[in-house]
Amino acid sequence: ILKGKIAIITGSNSGIGLGVAIELARAGADVVLNSFTDRPEDHALAEKIGAEHAVSARYIAADMSKGDDCRALIEKAGGCDILVNNAGIQFVSPIDEFPVEKWNAIIAINLSSAFHTTAAALPGMKAKGWGRVVNIASAHGLTASPFKGAYVAAKHGVVGLSKTVALEVAGKGITCNAVCPGYVLTPLVEAQIPDQMKVHNMDRETVIREVMLDRQPSRQFATVEQIGGTVVYLCSPAADQVTGTTISVDGGWTAM
Ligand code: NAD
Repeated sequence: ILKGKIAIITGSNSGIGLGVAIELARAGADVVLNSFTDRPEDHALAEKIGAEHAVSARYIAADMSKGDDCRALIEKAGGCDILVNNAGIQFVSPIDEFPVEKWNAIIAINLSSAFHTTAAALPGMKAKGWGRVVNIASAHGLTASPFKGAYVAAKHGVVGLSKTVALEVAGKGITCNAVCPGYVLTPLVEAQIPDQMKVHNMDRETVIREVMLDRQPSRQFATVEQIGGTVVYLCSPAADQVTGTTISVDGGWTAM
């Protein structure tokens, strides 16, 4: 359904971004992968996705903590029909001890990057009369947890930015929405399971259910395929009138 569309996914050489890129490619979109590294394996990853799904796929290095890099990514890709702002980092600390450089980095990568890429991508979308901006926010875009001040502030900001962009382009064939995942089983999260098992002296299933997913009523992780599927839905004609809103994929977290 997305044949001929060009999708740029920021922060997509691992985890959710990679899962979203694969699902968009499966739906027929040409994809541009991104992260701040420029290693042979980054380019090889794009080639593999392109070959497996018979789409054009490439990798463009750009550092989403830098506004100029964000805008250059869109330019180097030659614009896009679908923009997925996914790059993000986390740091946990009480506010009164929060390192200023960590605060600045989280706001830059998790929030300001979406401003810069969207600003650079919108003129092309307006010219074509079609576009999709999908921001990967978080359950923490709708609720808070202690010690995640920068992340929660940035993700709430992403939700607000999504609504504003939606209003500015309403009726022009362009939509903008935020996807709000709960805990997603990414390699990063998977890597924490053995340590948690040791610390709590629990088996894998118990540590997942009782410790990691204590705020996720389903007691099941969301998967990167499910986040990718949600993005594909937002890019489909069924979602033409879905704009300026959030879609939670969080096993019931934000219903509590
Ligand atoms: P991840 O660490 O696997 O992926 C983050 C991606 O961003 C990587 O590809 C990384 O290379 C890239 N990145 C980091 N800094 C960058 C920079 N300066 N420039 C360009 N790229 C950069 O983590 P993930 O879990 O896949 O997270 C992806 C997004 O989903 C983030 O925005 C995160 O906040 C959000 N999210 C994740 C979860 C979860 O449970 N995993 C839940 C809710 C929201």
